[in-house]
Amino acid sequence: MPLVTTEQMLLDARDGGYAVGAFNVENMEMVQAVLAAAEELGAPVIMQTTPSTVKYASLDYYYSSALAAAKNSRIPAAIHLDHGSSFELAMQALRVGYTSIMIDGSHSVFEENIAVTKRVVDACAPSRVSVEAELGKVGGKEDDLDGGNGGYTDPLEAKEFAERTGVNSLAVAIGTAHGVYSGEPRLDLERLSEIRKVVEIPLVLHGASGLSDDAVKESIKRGICKVNFATELRIAYSDGVKKVLAEAPETFDPKKYGAVGRENVKQLVMNRMKVCGCNGKA
Ligand SMILES: [Zn+2]
Repeated sequence: MPLVTTEQMLLDARDGGYAVGAFNVENMEMVQAVLAAAEELGAPVIMQTTPSTVKYASLDYYYSSALAAAKNSRIPAAIHLDHGSSFELAMQALRVGYTSIMIDGSHSVFEENIAVTKRVVDACAPSRVSVEAELGKVGGKEDDLDGGNGGYTDPLEAKEFAERTGVNSLAVAIGTAHGVYSGEPRLDLERLSEIRKVVEIPLVLHGASGLSDDAVKESIKRGICKVNFATELRIAYSDGVKKVLAEAPETFDPKKYGAVGRENVKQLVMNRMKVCGCNGKA
């Protein structure tokens, strides 16, 4: 089927008490791996790319790649701009055909974050492309993004933010971080429940690579409808490539190590989809 927006996907997840996995893809093999995992488990799926990823190739390449994977599949799949860093980049993604867009104004003050988010929401409304925003700061560093030590999302601010922007989903900061954790992070789950009480739109968890399965499941129980996984997919792909090249350094065919990286990513994604409970929900 054609690529779909994430709006209905995430509302279904909210109402069904599960989360849709959103997986950062960096190349063709990772796109194929994520779609193959979704196919095998019958799970709705979101493929996503950060600004540094689209700078590496282009929005066009990732859009076309995701479309090629999705169009011969019966699985609802979306291509999402992760951490859209400006109104301009969000508009480029919209024009290229991205079906879901994050505008990340979390580095700005509250009113500026509202203003840029509302601008993107209004621009995306005619094509019904769904928009995700972020309030509070997810800590750590994910390629170009440095959230520093983070700053937790305030429930009442989240309520006001959702109402004033009309955004479709909201990434909240409850103690997760991007990148690789040095120890098990402590999540402020009470805060998540407080946000859920006053905010109806689907909530998004960033920085889930390295969280325990139980922590992810508990977050979903308390209202998370989309869980982002990025770092551990990169590790899984690279581990596969490194293994082949270490065992057979004379290998020169990219397909030989790409296929092993791809299989590693597929297994990881299937595992994470089961933790999110989205298997069988397509
Ligand atoms: Zn993120």
